[in-house]
Amino acid sequence: MTRRRWIAEHWDEATATLQGAQAEHMARVLRAQPGMEADVVVSGRVFHAEVAAVRLGREASEVRLNLLAELEADPALPVTLVMAVYKFDRMEWVLEKATELGVAEIVPVIARRTEKHLAEAAEKRAERWRRIVHEAAKQSRRSDVPLIHDPGPLIGRVKAEAIRTRIVLAEQEQTTTLRALVEEAAEAASEEMPTLEIAIGPEGGWAPAEEALFDANGWKAASLGPRILRAETAAIAALAVVASWLD
Ligand code: SAH
Repeated sequence: MTRRRWIAEHWDEATATLQGAQAEHMARVLRAQPGMEADVVVSGRVFHAEVAAVRLGREASEVRLNLLAELEADPALPVTLVMAVYKFDRMEWVLEKATELGVAEIVPVIARRTEKHLAEAAEKRAERWRRIVHEAAKQSRRSDVPLIHDPGPLIGRVKAEAIRTRIVLAEQEQTTTLRALVEEAAEAASEEMPTLEIAIGPEGGWAPAEEALFDANGWKAASLGPRILRAETAAIAALAVVASWLD
């Protein structure tokens, strides 16, 4: 069985420290003692480690580990999801599931059809989103935590320079499938993993002006099939298509 992975809050060359909920769990629930072995993620790298010291405090607990040897890590899928901000509870579900499926980065964007009050609340919500992916990364034993960008207007991201293949999911697209574009990108990248950026619209879909903007900036439109999916289904389905090709 793969061992649970802890994610270090602080580290230096030879040691790593867990604090907060992770330290509490390790110290109180697992009754960690010096000498206990554990796998710990330090800045995206996984190490086999041994507990060096446990401090149980009423205010703050801490577990310090000695790093013994680096383990081979499994890289994230080279995919960035550009996700229009919509209902937070559904978005948060996507954050969790996308992390499990290996997403590397998520860029929340404000689209035309993002509800106004959600657009206004998004910035404050980003910290919570980062906590959610942190938890999900731990749970799914990822060695890295997906990067959650600060929410911003769609236009900035659409126009940003990119060396990656940029794909916009659109239910109006009838001919090009996501699978075909992923295959094309994989062939073009030959030995290397292709890097992809995939945009998913909000509940109401992309506005026509946004579709034109994607098109004018070199994004390729892709379909996930003839049925209209909710944004969260589209996100998960898209990652599954990519994972089946690249993982
Ligand atoms: N405008 C739609 C709903 C949009 S679905 C309506 O009729 O209500 C939300 C987002 O999911 C879309 O913007 C698109 O990015 C993605 N999506 C949903 N179904 C899709 C499909 N069949 N192919 C590609 N993308 C899809």
